[in-house]
Amino acid sequence: MQKRYQLHVTGVVQAVGFRPFVFKLAAQHSLSGWVSNGSDGVRIEVQGPESRLKNFSQAIRQSSPRLARIDQLTCRQIPPVHEKGFRIEPSQDRSAHHPVIGPDAAVCPACRHELFDPDDRRFAHPFISCVDCGPRYTIIEAVPYDREKTSMKAFDPCPACLAEYTSPGDRRFHSQTNCCWDCGPKLSLYDNRRNSIRAQEPIQNVRRFLKAGKIVAIKGLGGFHLACDATNASAVAQLRRRKGRGHKPFALMVASLDQASQICQVDDRQAQLLNDPASPIVLLPRLLDSCVCDQVAPNNNYLGLMLPYTAIHHLLLLDSPPLVMTSGNIAEEAIIADNDQAFAKLSTIADYFLTHDRAIRYRCDDSVARIIDGQTQLLRRSRGYTPQLIDLPAKFPPILAVGGQMKNTICFLKDDKALLSQHLGDMDNPQAYEFFQQTLEHLGDLLSFEPAGVAHDLHPHYQTTEFAQAMSVPRKIPIQHHQAHIAGCLAAHQALDEQIIGLSFDGSGFGPDNCVWGGEVFLGRLPELRRVAHFDYLPLPGSELAVKEPWRMAVSYLKKAFGPDYRKLPLPLLEEFSSKLAGIDKLIDRRINSPLTSSCARLFDAVSSLLGLCHFNTFEGEAAITLEMAMTDCDSQPYPYTLGRDDRDCYLADFTPTIKAIVDELSQGLAPGLIAARFHRTIIQLCLDLVAALAADTGITKVVITGGVFQNNFLHCRLKRLLAQAGFDVYANSLTPPNDGGISLGQAVLAAMMLQSKDHK
Ligand code: ZN
Ligand code: ZN
Ligand code: FE
Repeated sequence: MQKRYQLHVTGVVQAVGFRPFVFKLAAQHSLSGWVSNGSDGVRIEVQGPESRLKNFSQAIRQSSPRLARIDQLTCRQIPPVHEKGFRIEPSQDRSAHHPVIGPDAAVCPACRHELFDPDDRRFAHPFISCVDCGPRYTIIEAVPYDREKTSMKAFDPCPACLAEYTSPGDRRFHSQTNCCWDCGPKLSLYDNRRNSIRAQEPIQNVRRFLKAGKIVAIKGLGGFHLACDATNASAVAQLRRRKGRGHKPFALMVASLDQASQICQVDDRQAQLLNDPASPIVLLPRLLDSCVCDQVAPNNNYLGLMLPYTAIHHLLLLDSPPLVMTSGNIAEEAIIADNDQAFAKLSTIADYFLTHDRAIRYRCDDSVARIIDGQTQLLRRSRGYTPQLIDLPAKFPPILAVGGQMKNTICFLKDDKALLSQHLGDMDNPQAYEFFQQTLEHLGDLLSFEPAGVAHDLHPHYQTTEFAQAMSVPRKIPIQHHQAHIAGCLAAHQALDEQIIGLSFDGSGFGPDNCVWGGEVFLGRLPELRRVAHFDYLPLPGSELAVKEPWRMAVSYLKKAFGPDYRKLPLPLLEEFSSKLAGIDKLIDRRINSPLTSSCARLFDAVSSLLGLCHFNTFEGEAAITLEMAMTDCDSQPYPYTLGRDDRDCYLADFTPTIKAIVDELSQGLAPGLIAARFHRTIIQLCLDLVAALAADTGITKVVITGGVFQNNFLHCRLKRLLAQAGFDVYANSLTPPNDGGISLGQAVLAAMMLQSKDHK
């Protein structure tokens, strides 16, 4: 007795090999029917005996492709029809609302097996891939995803590859990146004057160079890496010198999980994240004795590790020590992906170049993630995640959000989906700004996006603000930086309707009172957030310079706490900078180039410098990270602080008593590690007290913690736990970064909600 089922599958089911998978499954169960992509997922009709139909539906859930994620599978019975065989139907809706582009995926286990199998025809092939793995976003030129619309179009498949592509039973059926030794891209090796080095096995040569302490630029999925042996201190020091890089940690690539656990603590969740198809850099606690030299991440208890994610990496890392694999760029410029650019810009850094002839269409840095409190948290959402769509709990008009200034990303919001771009960098860098403009154009084209409004930061002079102002889009909607942090965090949690208390702590964001905000607390329900508390304002002597030089902020805090006599305090810091204090006094007293700031990150800077840990930031957050790493006794007592009210009835946190207590303990000779711990406890206590007070006033029980400051592992975990113990539900960033990489999503959602509520009125 024939029955017919109609199935509808939603989730991540397009551009992940789902239709071929369904085809194969139907063949296995000898069912007739068809499968097709629609604008809202995959539709399937299957016909056959009921028991087989049931097994088929079950198998769809249980053995779906590696890159797929099924959110919902609905099934209903319909009348049988006359038909033969099973077929893949062309897409039903060409004007799909959200063209689906897959993220790049690390080499899958089946391909890895072939890569190292001497009997396989793709043995050691550097571009091995299948429907479950390989490049996607970084090679795509237009939609729908099809070989002719990717940089694979330069390579005509050979008969053997074409046969795989057209055989429904093959695991490379409809694999757009399918290629082999005969028809695929080719590697080439050069010295830094672009002289070609003829070699049978370029990768073997690169391994030799690395072993000899050389630096090699290697073309990867989303751009070039600069690689060197991470166990060779002089090679790593050389790379730092040539790249002009201060103390900022380098990421490492390790051969295997085994090798990872020889240099870091790796638990099951972390191992799973390392092995994820997205293959991010994972921050892991570093083991004390390991082969990796200190130069890789000076003064840092963590190392950023990733596993090989292309065949080139696998071949390179085989029996190799861990390699430094840092983005191929100069200082803060955007990552380089083009061969000519690489030679033009990196030849003073790299000794050799391993390149190939497949173009990278979209540059994409490695993503950075960690496990915090048992959950994945992305710190940089880029390769492997972009352009996965973020689901939202409501439908919105199309909004483009251009992000902020640092760690910029852009966001395309439409209906109930948001697409967050890859990491674009710091917009005051001209190359990064160019990357921003290119990405905006490319993604806009791919999505055929016509925004009803463009959201930008409230800061009138950010490049991104000026860019948005110049666009011919009906509405321009300015969004306050710290509100964007909160909205972005809530959006990724699909919690747009909640009454919340939002703690938004970071380095800086423009406040409507012309001050530099950064220790901010808001209350309300989106899009109406009211500022209800903030850190006290202090001068930022030298403005941007004070962000780079934490000692300036230390002086500002001392001056506030002790008045003009602060200079008499017996502190090493004041001795070290004695010749500069008069200058700082002048800046502050006459209010020259010293905007007022309520920044939480600047308070961390000040304390780090006071303790003699870090007077100069060679990278963003260095002083704060050094302070966190220095902590010794995590259960020590907090210092006093004052919680007052300002003239607008906002709670005002004043750390004068904290600074006084720290100076006191310093002069008693207390260890900096203990003071660092007590300081962290003070910030946590302030948060608890504030939330308790606000909750008592309003009855709100949901709390958001967001902003770059919550990248601090101790602060994040301890505060979250204590808030939960006190009965609060806590929202923290997970899918999107707590830092400024997450604010474009918040801008988009807030702007869309504001437009909607305005239209209703
Ligand atoms: Zn594969
Ligand atoms: Zn081939
Ligand atoms: Fe921020």
